[in-house]
Amino acid sequence: MNDAMRKVPDHLFFATGLPEALVAEAWAAGRREIGGLLLGREPGRVRRFVSLPNAAARPDEHFRADLPALVRALNMARRSGWRLEGLFHSHPSAPPRPSPYDMKHCMEDLPLLLVGSGTPALRGYIRRGATWLEIRLAAWNEMDG
Ligand SMILES: [Zn+2]
Repeated sequence: MNDAMRKVPDHLFFATGLPEALVAEAWAAGRREIGGLLLGREPGRVRRFVSLPNAAARPDEHFRADLPALVRALNMARRSGWRLEGLFHSHPSAPPRPSPYDMKHCMEDLPLLLVGSGTPALRGYIRRGATWLEIRLAAWNEMDG
């Protein structure tokens, strides 16, 4: 399959209230970057955020998920039928754009959500090879299915 034909999501849908909760939790942590897993039941729909401890040497500069906690959370999610729909972390003192560190360490084709300074505070991206694309974030009501 040629690269241009690959299916890459240009939208990520969020359960009602979840984007606001991510922003609130990020601001509540002060200078410390927070982050974790975005889980869903079907492709492209995020229903839950699972916070992970920040194991970075400088948690005010980077978010690096604690590895044992990450493995535990992924195993628990998989056993319970959850899918990994994206990763999230905050930039307390920078805009919500992938940093050089993020660009170097992020997974391909997995949405990365960032909260940072500026408006809107929450933005989403996806990496395809060396290219970063912004994805649109939209709300959906879980009650509608
Ligand atoms: Zn970052």
